[in-house]
Amino acid sequence: MMNWKDPEQVKEYFRQYRETHREQIRATNREYARRYHAEHQEETKAYKKQYRLAHHEAALAKDKEMYQKHQQNIRVRARQRNRLTKEEVIAVYGGECACCGETTLEFLAIDHINGNGYQHRQSIKRSGNPFYHWLKLQGYPLGYRVLCHNCNQSLGHYGYCPHQQIVTPAFAAALAGGWSG
Ligand SMILES: [Zn+2]
Ligand SMILES: [Zn+2]
Repeated sequence: MMNWKDPEQVKEYFRQYRETHREQIRATNREYARRYHAEHQEETKAYKKQYRLAHHEAALAKDKEMYQKHQQNIRVRARQRNRLTKEEVIAVYGGECACCGETTLEFLAIDHINGNGYQHRQSIKRSGNPFYHWLKLQGYPLGYRVLCHNCNQSLGHYGYCPHQQIVTPAFAAALAGGWSG
């Protein structure tokens, strides 16, 4: 006799039942799933749509993240390349400010000796990093020198640098012609 109060016996009974009625259970489950699906069609549709949307957004976010990572790598490499090029260009043109001797790369820039650096850079449509790359590509043409931003600013604004070592051609001409006040 089956003792329904013994959990072990109950467990064994169901185990045997599942084994002997496997096909029947499967059919019942299938039928249940079919009926559930028919009755919950709208819900299922809505769920699927939501699932697709959520995963679509996750996929988009992943894409965006990969893209940003990629862009960041490109930027990092570009910055390294730009730094190397600037180091090389500055070194070729003397490695230090032609006026005060400043050697810190961040303070230095290339200056067009005739004093029309801005116009020249405009005419070749390059400034900053593209300008350094251009100088390198041109094989380091003559007519350029290294200046620190302080000396460069002073030369550009006043026509001379307080370090008193260099003046712009325009300022030199003014000096040669004497002060008019
Ligand atoms: Zn300087
Ligand atoms: Zn100076």
